[in-house]
Amino acid sequence: MIDGTFDVVGAAGPRAFFEHLTAATLSHGYLFSGPAGVGKKTFARALAHSLLCVTPRRTMLGWCGVCTGCTRFAAGTHPDFYASEGQLKIGERDGSGFHDGDEATARDLVRQLSLHSYAGGKRVFVLGDADFTREAANALLKFFEEPPAGVVLIVTTSAGGRILPTIRSRLVEVTFPLLSEDEIVEVLTRRGLARDDVQRAASAANGSAARALAFLDEGEGATRDAAVAWFFAAARGDEADAAGWATRPTLEAGLETVKTLARDWIALGLGGSVPLLARDQRAALEALPAREPAAFARLLAAIGDAERIARTNVSPPLVADLVRIALAPSSR
Ligand SMILES: [Zn+2]
Repeated sequence: MIDGTFDVVGAAGPRAFFEHLTAATLSHGYLFSGPAGVGKKTFARALAHSLLCVTPRRTMLGWCGVCTGCTRFAAGTHPDFYASEGQLKIGERDGSGFHDGDEATARDLVRQLSLHSYAGGKRVFVLGDADFTREAANALLKFFEEPPAGVVLIVTTSAGGRILPTIRSRLVEVTFPLLSEDEIVEVLTRRGLARDDVQRAASAANGSAARALAFLDEGEGATRDAAVAWFFAAARGDEADAAGWATRPTLEAGLETVKTLARDWIALGLGGSVPLLARDQRAALEALPAREPAAFARLLAAIGDAERIARTNVSPPLVADLVRIALAPSSR
């Protein structure tokens, strides 16, 4: 027996969960839920790799790296590994079309699920960020009625509410937490990013590696900087210019930053040595006068309302103003 390699960053809870499983207690289906960008798909692939490694190991997690299962998995040619991403549809459009690529994928998936293993071991399916139409879900339910031996289905989602209850109830749910700043540093460093960028992005990432990468890649840093400046100006009651973030394409990211700062501010107001999400803003947040609990509650409610109306076609500056009013010191 060997200790396999399992080089996944973070996810201590899911890791402990799967380390304690055995072939006898392994389920046919898992739902990996949790915020976006915290490594659910990475973990799912690593679990798949672990399940397809044929060398006996001390725990279920980890792989030897040299067996046929490992070599094929690493080469992306393992015949018993199937991965897809996004929505699975089956014959929904006009009741006619099986021409759509996604629909073909779903039908293929259902067919694949019923086949036997090529390599004589397990078969593993990873449906990343899955979203099922009712028809696709019904097809999958047939799989759950009589799951073939050795098949493991892993569904990942950051919007658990969109997984139909009929599917959800047949999956064992494993929850993934936000990443710590150190874990994000580790993820970004492994991608070979420059040390300065890694530190800056990690402290601004609010626990999501995906957000850290977006921050570096897509100029999201500018949106965040603008939202941070606006937040502190508004909280001090100064003139706050929302033009840098309250625009249609950046509104969601800007509100996310505002919400994170508000939560951190509240956490600081409650005292104790709380871990902050926006750690780079600790000093500035501490310099703000704390508010009455009722004012904090109004602020959170206003942010919630803003998030809701941000999805409608209300103008972004108006959305920002809704939050600004609750953020202003005179707010009653
Ligand atoms: Zn192996």
